[in-house]
Amino acid sequence: MLMRHWAGTALAVSALIVGTVAAVAAAPSFPGGTTVVSITFDDASVDQLTNAVPALDRHRLKGTFFVNSGRIDQAGYLTAADLAGLAATGHEIGGHTQTHPDLATLAPADQRREICDDRVALLGRGFPIRNLAYPFGSASATTQQIAAACGYNSARGVGGLRGIATCTDCPAAEPMPPANLYYTTTPPSLRTNTTMAELQSYVTNAESAGGGWVQLVIHHVCAGCDPTYAITPELFDSFLDWLTPRASTNNTQVRPVEDVIGGAVQPGVPSQPPPGSPAPSPSPSTSPTLTASPTPSVSPAASPTPSTSPTPSPTPVPSVPPVPSVPPLPSLPPVPGPPVNLVRNPSLESATGRLPTCFDNASSGLGLRGVSRSHDAHTGRYAARVKTVASIGGGSGLMPSRSASCAVPIKPGRRTALSVWYKGKWRPPAAVRLIVHYRASTGRWTDLAAATVVPQSKAWRQVSLVLPPLPAGATAISFGLSLAGAGSVATDDYGAFEVG
Ligand SMILES: [Zn+2]
Repeated sequence: MLMRHWAGTALAVSALIVGTVAAVAAAPSFPGGTTVVSITFDDASVDQLTNAVPALDRHRLKGTFFVNSGRIDQAGYLTAADLAGLAATGHEIGGHTQTHPDLATLAPADQRREICDDRVALLGRGFPIRNLAYPFGSASATTQQIAAACGYNSARGVGGLRGIATCTDCPAAEPMPPANLYYTTTPPSLRTNTTMAELQSYVTNAESAGGGWVQLVIHHVCAGCDPTYAITPELFDSFLDWLTPRASTNNTQVRPVEDVIGGAVQPGVPSQPPPGSPAPSPSPSTSPTLTASPTPSVSPAASPTPSTSPTPSPTPVPSVPPVPSVPPLPSLPPVPGPPVNLVRNPSLESATGRLPTCFDNASSGLGLRGVSRSHDAHTGRYAARVKTVASIGGGSGLMPSRSASCAVPIKPGRRTALSVWYKGKWRPPAAVRLIVHYRASTGRWTDLAAATVVPQSKAWRQVSLVLPPLPAGATAISFGLSLAGAGSVATDDYGAFEVG
């Protein structure tokens, strides 16, 4: 997952991409101090329609439904008619990829197909698709660039805002407009153990912080249909009972994502040009000329600005100041791509058995120890935890696999910045070190002498290191935190970026 460190860069690049794509309307602005809550649903499961929509309707609220085009009409998922009904009644339909993969682990061409063609398919069904949610909240810098090039106005991640037990130092709300349009942040996904107090805290924390945007990430609304990612219809309904009156008492509004992000519906951008059309330029700035997809019929329900939203509001909505028109942008020089994270599956969201895909438990010496996936994630849904009960010598830690497709590639003469987020408990003489291995020209893997000891931390903390130049002929690295002695260390969000 993209780390905050790079968010500014990605934003600048994304803004330029969008700026050259189309004259995008300025984002709607809300009066200072406004808190906006977006109720977002991922995956378009049937229980959302049966259990959540009636409660939204009773409270006259509109939600955002992120849909996988490849699942429409399949058992357990909403039908095309269901979605048309939602759109016709003022709910927002957004994209969520064709088949729900972990995007950050895919090759760019596959990411483009999943993101662009999903959007084209949804536009083709007549929905004005402006906004995306990444499955599992998983997106590399490349993924974010692709989301922009596919014509999305924004893309939602998962995490990054304060939770009760996770990300406790994180901001309470996303600014409006968001800091990074292509990785907007949220509190943790709602789960079966999410309480009313926790839901309320997401809103009251934002209100106390002076307002801002809070997107709630909901999967199932049901009792017992999913062991983890569900809240009960009763909790959902009581939460709306509590939330709705805050429009008049706390200047807290419930709006779909499109009301916060705004902007015109951009043309669809197929990942492959239709037969007979000129080959697409790799530059995203020219991609919108591929207007082969059907022009979406924009329903009035999808108005980009809150001031003209037909949504009946139970309480008066503060008037929105006029949006200044944006002068046309001058043509810009080619934009260098944002930094690419060279780690596959960096946020550990996808797994093969008990290990995150493309990661191994790199251990040496003897020990009673193991690796497990953990839901206490820094971002996304998963982290991984290494636990050692007892050991003799050596250490244990989760590191990118050394296989050709998973090891972190390095180029001769380039320097690489490594980082990883961690938290954990251990008692000296146990220690945790950031260790690096490299593949030498002979193909043999070798320890790099540098091994940085990291301090113990109860909260998520990032450790980073710019690698010294590696021996000539080195082709790949693997790195991670190694625990020597008894204790437990969780890691998440591995990063490896070329820095020069
Ligand atoms: Zn999903």
